[in-house]
Amino acid sequence: MASATSALLTRRCGRCGGSGKYSFNLMDHDRCYGCGGTGRVLVTPRGQKKIVPTCTDYQKALTGDLLKHGPVLYHVEEIRWVRLQYMTAKGWINQQLTLTRLVDGKTVQMKRPYEKVTLLEQLPNGGTRETREMIKPSEEMIGQLAEV
Ligand SMILES: [Zn+2]
Repeated sequence: MASATSALLTRRCGRCGGSGKYSFNLMDHDRCYGCGGTGRVLVTPRGQKKIVPTCTDYQKALTGDLLKHGPVLYHVEEIRWVRLQYMTAKGWINQQLTLTRLVDGKTVQMKRPYEKVTLLEQLPNGGTRETREMIKPSEEMIGQLAEV
């Protein structure tokens, strides 16, 4: 994991000059949109392929994914169940992701509401209807790896 990230080239973010801070707004405060507040961005050397994320939605990320969240790329190291603590606009937080941030190899954690999505029924128009099921981790599940 460290070897995969340490070989990557980065440069100082041109938008914020490396501070990670830019103009203030209520939603993201002063976090720079160019680098997600890290101050650095990935550089693709000439002749090399650009790194392509395997996932762009942290709610659907799986272990091993290369996740793009905002402007920042992360490697998903592991996902564990956490006790339901608080609700977000998207549901109850029930999982914690441990990620390696590619620009600096730093380990960061992110919490998310994870829902099990199943395709339930065929609709007359040929489509399908999804059912979303919020998972409430049992006491035995708390802290365990979530293989999703
Ligand atoms: Zn920046």
